[in-house]
Amino acid sequence: MTPEPPPAGPAGSADDAARRRELADGLAGVHRRIAGAAAQAGRDPAGITLVVVTKTHPCADLRRLAAIGVRDIGEAREQEAWAKYTELAGTPQAAGLVWHFVGRLQRNKARRLARYADLVHSVDREDLLAPLGRGAVASGRQVGVLVQLSLDGDPARGGVSVVDGPDRMLRLADAVAATEGLSLRGVMTVGPLGADPRQAFSVLGPLSRRLLRDHPGAAVISAGMSGDLEQAVAAGATHLRVGTAILGARPPLG
Ligand SMILES: *Cc1c(COP(=O)(O)O)cnc(C)c1O
Repeated sequence: MTPEPPPAGPAGSADDAARRRELADGLAGVHRRIAGAAAQAGRDPAGITLVVVTKTHPCADLRRLAAIGVRDIGEAREQEAWAKYTELAGTPQAAGLVWHFVGRLQRNKARRLARYADLVHSVDREDLLAPLGRGAVASGRQVGVLVQLSLDGDPARGGVSVVDGPDRMLRLADAVAATEGLSLRGVMTVGPLGADPRQAFSVLGPLSRRLLRDHPGAAVISAGMSGDLEQAVAAGATHLRVGTAILGARPPLG
């Protein structure tokens, strides 16, 4: 995987140091944005986890991010995630990394994903649960799961629709909680296209509180990307998923 040459030179080279500085600057800028948004919302930024989404960027960038203290890594394609996971396995940089999966998940990739993912943000169908659970049990792990919500009901972008209320979310949440090997941890969403994110995200708090009535351990709200992280913090997000604002524009999808 990541067959393209890394955009910067090998470890220790001047290019490598420049890229590491670029990533550190991007990271610092996003942490400043989070601190500002948290202050405005009267929230403690310590309650907000930044997941750095490294999809399409080379594994060398994961190593650089790990070297500057990033622990939470997000990937959106299982094949790419697996390639990076296996490339890093056993290296010092891999120690302590938390693997988040944020993309559309195919059923035939779910079992393998459960071998290494710590939190799968994008579960929106019941037929993913059996293979995820089997993979988790087979590797002696407990895999965290978020129910992905669609705030506008557009099926093209994934998520269970909450346009008509919380019923679909609650049904899938119950099914996750009933699956051996999986732990229901909360909800995730992607801001709807063309909508005002502040308004769109405003339903997340009430939906999360409704979920917590039945599943007190499911407190995660994953929302907010490079363009709308402030609005997500205002809406109570506990996890932000940020790529472009840290790593720069993505190489074209291969
Ligand atoms: C790519 C991706 C992100 C990060 O998006 P940026 O705009 O690059 O910050 C977040 N969430 C999901 C589901 C993604 O696929």
